[in-house]
Amino acid sequence: MQAVVAPSQAAGGLTEFDPEVEAIIRAENKRQHNKIRLIPSENYTSQAVLEATGSILTNKYSEGYAGERYYEGQQQIDKIEELAVKRAKAVFGAEHVNVQPYSGSPANQAVYVGLCAPGDAVMGLSLAHGGHLTHGDKVSISGMHYKSVQYGVRKEDGLIDFDQVEALAKEHQPKLLFCGGTAYPRVVDFAHFAEIGHAVGAIVVADIAHIAGLVAAGVHQSPVPHVDVVTTTTHKSLRGPRGGMIMCKAQYAAAIDKAVFPGLQGGPHNGTTAAIAVTLKEAMGVEFKAYSQQVVDNAKVLGEELSARGFALSSGGTDNHLILIDVTDKGVTGYQMAKALDQAGIVCNFNRVPFDSRPAKRPSGIRIGTPAITSRGFGADEMKHLAEWMDRVAQVRADEGKELDDRKKAYAEIRAEVRALCDRFPAPGLLYGEDGQPL
Ligand SMILES: *Cc1c(COP(=O)(O)O)cnc(C)c1O
Repeated sequence: MQAVVAPSQAAGGLTEFDPEVEAIIRAENKRQHNKIRLIPSENYTSQAVLEATGSILTNKYSEGYAGERYYEGQQQIDKIEELAVKRAKAVFGAEHVNVQPYSGSPANQAVYVGLCAPGDAVMGLSLAHGGHLTHGDKVSISGMHYKSVQYGVRKEDGLIDFDQVEALAKEHQPKLLFCGGTAYPRVVDFAHFAEIGHAVGAIVVADIAHIAGLVAAGVHQSPVPHVDVVTTTTHKSLRGPRGGMIMCKAQYAAAIDKAVFPGLQGGPHNGTTAAIAVTLKEAMGVEFKAYSQQVVDNAKVLGEELSARGFALSSGGTDNHLILIDVTDKGVTGYQMAKALDQAGIVCNFNRVPFDSRPAKRPSGIRIGTPAITSRGFGADEMKHLAEWMDRVAQVRADEGKELDDRKKAYAEIRAEVRALCDRFPAPGLLYGEDGQPL
């Protein structure tokens, strides 16, 4: 038998064959260790999920569904897809599940293709108020091919304006009513959406891409009992591979499956399917429940610590894993703050806040979240450090009297402190040497 060697060092492996790509992956491995990752849609997947994703299942073509494929040789692939579906049903209590969408956007696309026709009215939360592009934004196909009607949040409290949702639903009689979002820090009242949508004959779709992990763990209410269709990514708070899923009532199963394949896609990504199955097994465990509760607890503490330092939180706080902040009160724009934070070793994204007077590329806010940092074990103490660092960064960036070099020096100081904290919290799935340092 051949000696066992790490795959990347094997003959023709990455290290040997393509050191250029290998070096970039290693550098990214270091970056993911060295910096505090606050992008709320990102996470650290487990070693088990990475292994399944990168497995030889990627070699197989399997257009169709288990038991009715268009290629032979599906003995193992059918098993893996059936297992992923079975676990998804168990975790979310769904009647029907499709695990083949390539990601969150294609999952939503399949809902349009399967359940309405071009030109039909569709409703969703506007991107500017925390919705997703695929919920009818005009730059997305969902806004180009359908008659998109967008609702928003209330100016006074940043919460979804259900009076507006109801009035627009009555006026436009949408075929689909989307709820859920990508920058909405509060509980989504799925039952209320279902009531409004069903009263006008709409199919109600909950997109839980961001909160799927919280829903799986029972720390955010589930839309499954209330709405007709649930779409999600698998790589955000659910902590799986990059992928998508659609869960629906049995009556929509055939239309959804047909929309995914052959409507939109060819062969599913079987390594991803296997990794989704692994992810869902993880999601069934007590550790994942504790993790998800900690995600929410951390966000709450971080929000409070930031508020105490004068940061203006959209909607005044958070119920989930995500915080949206208007940083202009601190004398910086969202764009400036995001760039400055990155130099200080803290990674987030700039984002519009509701009723933002600034353009999307230079908005007033930043969006942060706790799934990734909680996966590496950060708790309440670390949230306090984090809020303090963010405050220092804002002060440095806002100080007009500071020379560029002095700013850089100040960011470098914070970056060193951040780095020291990160060294105490190795992240799941990353590669480390025997000295504990990222490879
Ligand atoms: C992230 C996200 C998506 C899209 O997911 P991709 O995998 O990036 O295509 C869809 N809907 C919502 C609400 C999201 O947050």
